[in-house]
Amino acid sequence: METDVAIVGAGIAGVSLAAELASRRSVVVLEQEHAPGYHATGRSAALFAPNYGGPLLAALTAASERHLRRPPAGFAEHPLLDPQSILFSAAAIRSHSSMPLQKNSAPPMSVSND
Ligand SMILES: Cc1cc2nc3c(=O)[nH]c(=O)nc-3n(C[C@H](O)[C@H](O)[C@H](O)COP(=O)(O)OP(=O)(O)OC[C@H]3O[C@@H](n4cnc5c(N)ncnc54)[C@H](O)[C@@H]3O)c2cc1C
Repeated sequence: METDVAIVGAGIAGVSLAAELASRRSVVVLEQEHAPGYHATGRSAALFAPNYGGPLLAALTAASERHLRRPPAGFAEHPLLDPQSILFSAAAIRSHSSMPLQKNSAPPMSVSND
């Protein structure tokens, strides 16, 4: 089988990249498990939380906001985000974690699983 791009891993990162490339390249996604999304993707709480994580993770999360709030026409039959009240808690020992909550950012929203 000949293909332009081989992506290793069918988590959200791999399949998102595949979807982005698929209109202009032939793409194959290689997954070691019996189903896509088996690891971190399948365990996600599905929260869109721009105030979670360090600067790099927060930037990646923020970059997805436009798509989640205004997906392309025909992408989904329902809104992708719903407002959600979330309480983050952490022990004092975690206060200097490398995964701090970012200040002054939008509150978390839940990503619809429908
Ligand atoms: C409990 C939990 C809750 C979470 N909650 C949230 C949340 O609310 N909001 C949020 O934004 N993020 C959340 N996250 C983080 C989020 O789930 C991850 O950042 C995201 O799913 C990572 O996606 P990924 O595609 O990079 O990795 P993965 O989903 O782990 O995908 C990587 C894939 O690559 C495959 N793979 C690896 N090596 C090979 C190989 N050599 N050959 C073939 N396949 C291979 C693996 O089997 C796996 O399927 C949570 C994570 C966890 C664990």
